[in-house]
Amino acid sequence: MDRNRLYEIRKQLEQDLPEDRYQHTLGVEFTAACLAMRYGADVYKAELAGLLHDCAKMYSGQELIRLCAEAGVELTEGEKAAPKVLHAVYGPVLAKQRYGVDDVEILSAIRWHTTGRENMALLDKIIYTADFIEPCREMITILPEIRSLAFKDLTYAVFRIAEETIPYVKMRGLPIDSHTQGCYNWLKENGFHDR
Ligand code: FE
Ligand code: FE
Repeated sequence: MDRNRLYEIRKQLEQDLPEDRYQHTLGVEFTAACLAMRYGADVYKAELAGLLHDCAKMYSGQELIRLCAEAGVELTEGEKAAPKVLHAVYGPVLAKQRYGVDDVEILSAIRWHTTGRENMALLDKIIYTADFIEPCREMITILPEIRSLAFKDLTYAVFRIAEETIPYVKMRGLPIDSHTQGCYNWLKENGFHDR
């Protein structure tokens, strides 16, 4: 663990990202650290993953499609049609190349922070949830409930976020990512729907 590394990456991200995105990034870092303390995850890894989760957000959808092709990352048609998801697909590549992070748990948490997936690991759940509840998030009706739930039952919080995301994405006329649906189905099958 190297706290200096966190400091260096923060400085770099402050230059790479627009101000509001950088502030969101710090919020996710901070919230991820708190959740890691609560659930016994590696706090340092949670901080790094929180810091880097949106590192590819400065690119447009078109740029991300080109960058993924250059990096040999295959995209489904659904992903190409959903620019929102692309920064998460390319994020692990950039985290490795530009910020020198190659821990597989961190790269996984970056990859799945937007859509979730089936069988999410603890760090995946922490970053997915921290992204939704961090202090800069615009207040929406369910936010207080999810913020409280996140510190009581993390997996249930993930389920509730997925459950809220699906109708929101549909309402905006966008396709549901197969991993978002997979995440929802996985937790539904595990009984979270009937609580
Ligand atoms: Fe993101
Ligand atoms: Fe984010």
